[in-house]
Amino acid sequence: GRHCLTDEVRHQFPILHQQVHGQPLVYLDNAATTQKPNAVLQALDHYYRCDNANVHRGVHALSERATWAMESARDTIQQFINAASREEVVFVRGTTEGINLVAHGVAESILQPGDEIVISAMEHHSNIVPWQLVCQRTQAVLKVIPILPSGELDLEAYQQLLSERSRLVAISHISNALGTINPVAKIISIAHDHGIPVLVDGAQAVAHTPVDVQALDCDFYVFSGHKVYGPTGIGVLYGKQVWLDRFPPYQGGGEMIRRVSFDHTEFNTLPYKFEAGTPAIAEAVGLGAALQWFSHYRQHSLWEHEATLLYQLQAQLKTLSGVTIIGNAKEKTAVCSFTVAGIHPHDLGTLLDHCGIAVRAGHHCAMPVMDFFNVPATVRASLAIYNTTEDIARLIKGLEQSMEFWQ
Ligand code: PMP
Repeated sequence: GRHCLTDEVRHQFPILHQQVHGQPLVYLDNAATTQKPNAVLQALDHYYRCDNANVHRGVHALSERATWAMESARDTIQQFINAASREEVVFVRGTTEGINLVAHGVAESILQPGDEIVISAMEHHSNIVPWQLVCQRTQAVLKVIPILPSGELDLEAYQQLLSERSRLVAISHISNALGTINPVAKIISIAHDHGIPVLVDGAQAVAHTPVDVQALDCDFYVFSGHKVYGPTGIGVLYGKQVWLDRFPPYQGGGEMIRRVSFDHTEFNTLPYKFEAGTPAIAEAVGLGAALQWFSHYRQHSLWEHEATLLYQLQAQLKTLSGVTIIGNAKEKTAVCSFTVAGIHPHDLGTLLDHCGIAVRAGHHCAMPVMDFFNVPATVRASLAIYNTTEDIARLIKGLEQSMEFWQ
């Protein structure tokens, strides 16, 4: 049954088995970053103990092994997101760098003054600020799809917003502040009807829903390794080859060239054209291990497990007086933002920490969402594969104690 699966999974995460302030740790800050299973810890350890070398240019055994390990990770990623080719899988530092790379490419190769970039009001700052910077530089204009009080996107407004000047739609797959699963396939097909490419910010999605970039037909898909049980410092930009070929390099340096002279530099082929400098080799290997490990569990029963926990959490929160859940989308997963009347989210976060419960309190890098719901911040509990019904019970009990203490 489900319980056995969770037991089996929890066993593989050493960090979960510790006490915080004298209480067993309950980790509910997974939207910020996930914990790492033994499979990932061992892959990192093995890489540094046995294979560490620089990649791609060595003729010696260690360099060949390091290169093989990193390029195998790229193959794993290709399969994980079902990209058509490994050339379309670019290693970046994370979601943020992936979006900045695309913003740079779009600015350099497409945007003219008066062109429009379409984002939404529920984006993470990393899918807002790069576009603002690009718009300042190119005199393009940022258009924002509004959200509805339910925490869903206003798709009618979206259709009206598209124009002859729209050059790109950049949208999150799942909102880190609200948990809303956006209808990205529909958003993409509407954009494509107008010939507009779409970037999907998958930072919150890869760990919580199936991702098939060819089925979605997105033009770009970005995510961070650390939110899907892998290391920090590594992430993925998937881009359709036609776009990546069209974009100029993002950074110059080693690895991204084929031939350099002072008259002329010939750039390397995809994906290396976008991977200047020594890459985060161990982290890439760790991400490959994470996705291989996660592939094992990535199935209907996991989505069901997370949906059940979210349901339990929300149902129990609703029994507490003064609690308001922010974001009630029909399609929602793994994230629950809420406020408690009379207690600032930061104070609540601190009180919960004293009960050994890790949640996030703040604006979640989505200040426009906070503005829309007219709150300064929320408390956010976010789930992962290793969370249990007991974790939810501990959170609810911690909340009750905190609310009592505060009065
Ligand atoms: N987009 C979303 C939806 C996110 O949740 C996050 C991380 N909170 C990011 C982008 C940025 O990811 P990173 O900081 O790993 O680059």
